[in-house]
Amino acid sequence: MAPKTAISPTREADYPEWYQQVIRAADLAENSPVRGCMVIKPWGYQLWENIQRALDDKFKATGHQNAYFPLFIPMSFLEKEAEHVEGFAKECAVVTHHRLEPDPDGGLRPAGKLEEPLIVRPTSETIIGATYAKWVQSYRDLPILINQWANVVRWEMRTRMFLRTAEFLWQEGHTVHATAEEAIAETEQMVDVYRDFAQDWMAMPVIVGSKTPKERFPGAVETLSIEAMMQDRKALQAGTSHFLGQNFAKAQEIKFQSETGGIEYAWTTSWGVSTRLIGALIMTHSDDDGLVLPPRLAPSQVVIQPIYKDDSRTEVMEYVKSLRDEIAAQTYAGAPIRVVIDDRDIRGGEKKWYHVKRGVPIRLEIGPKDIAKDSVFCGVRNQPKSFGVSRKELVSTISTMLETLQSELFAAALELRESNTVTITNEAEFRDFFTTTDENKIHGGFAHCHFADEDAIEQLLKELKVTIRCVPRDGNAEPGTCFFSGRPAEKMGVFAKAY
Ligand code: AMP
Repeated sequence: MAPKTAISPTREADYPEWYQQVIRAADLAENSPVRGCMVIKPWGYQLWENIQRALDDKFKATGHQNAYFPLFIPMSFLEKEAEHVEGFAKECAVVTHHRLEPDPDGGLRPAGKLEEPLIVRPTSETIIGATYAKWVQSYRDLPILINQWANVVRWEMRTRMFLRTAEFLWQEGHTVHATAEEAIAETEQMVDVYRDFAQDWMAMPVIVGSKTPKERFPGAVETLSIEAMMQDRKALQAGTSHFLGQNFAKAQEIKFQSETGGIEYAWTTSWGVSTRLIGALIMTHSDDDGLVLPPRLAPSQVVIQPIYKDDSRTEVMEYVKSLRDEIAAQTYAGAPIRVVIDDRDIRGGEKKWYHVKRGVPIRLEIGPKDIAKDSVFCGVRNQPKSFGVSRKELVSTISTMLETLQSELFAAALELRESNTVTITNEAEFRDFFTTTDENKIHGGFAHCHFADEDAIEQLLKELKVTIRCVPRDGNAEPGTCFFSGRPAEKMGVFAKAY
């Protein structure tokens, strides 16, 4: 018989349903009365705050400042960049009225029609660009390096918590430069920031690469992305950095007087990651007992569960409080260790599973017997068995224990990706790799293949529901032959089913 798991179904039995159940069991978020929009609950929101803090530090360390721009974009702004509007037109929330009035049936109806409809921002290149046009006069005004933390709305038809929602939280960086070289360097720098964050903080290995023309951001000259493999072997685009060339500068009239006196259009970039990263975290590390969090991002890194009867309460609480203070005085990843005591009046077993399902990295149980031995009972989230350890040793090694867990999670995720990555050189193999009889069963992975022309393989990819995730930047692929067309191919792409 299969061992009992805290999450049902298991990953193997039904991965999409497992994902929803992990979110529920960890109390991260829930569906809202508004279609496609979610309520992010405190445990999920603390995770987001930790993600924000780490990224924000990196943005500032690379010279960026935060600012805030309007939620509404006049429709005419979007019309100015043809590809951009085409890309986003299908998923825009449009505000057409500015008040409500009673209707004859006793309800309410919109009134006060706006002269020009306003779009709830799906992304802010146009509204920010219009502002930059006013700020930029001379080469001395450049570069502009600004980031905005905000919510955006894309009217997605098929939504899934965190991964794809109609409203989501994100950051969007928007920069302006005097030269193409500078803007390209910025685009590269920011995708590297995302890669480092994904790998060092989220313990999630990613592939950095460029998108093919069909998969590019609407209006971009080049889109770089980080792509990760989830435990069901599907790919998730976890972040994007766009080189926009002069497309938006021309549409928005961002011009400047150069050092030599001529008037030139500027070069712009944009880059973003969203609350999708929380979905990425869940699907990279969690197991059949629930959420598993990399210690660096965990809202609580250590939880202490005191165990006592009425007559031992004072003694046990005194002991755990002093232990908490001792642990909190230790640092991990440059910050004091986040440790809490869970003294709620619920059964010990229930309490243990509560924290296991929420992904707390280290759990400590302490009762009178442990105190007598000056030791604690310690559970590490990725280890099946708890173990006893002396208090002294625990305190002196707890930071190392967290770091070990962080690196083990990364290693496990990398191993999963490596063992499910293949190089494919013929169509039969390609079809076989990506053909599955049950969509919910775990199957396939990443296939590295030479390809000459994405248009020529569109049909095959559509049929198999496969996409080209990116052309890896750090791959050292030799030129080869496109097995789809038999033509010479310079590039190798990473092919995968994707979220
Ligand atoms: P983009 O502006 O399309 O390049 O997207 C920027 C970031 O937001 C990318 O990392 C996407 O993965 C993420 N993203 C795009 N659409 C959604 C969505 N509907 N829900 C959550 N995240 C999204």
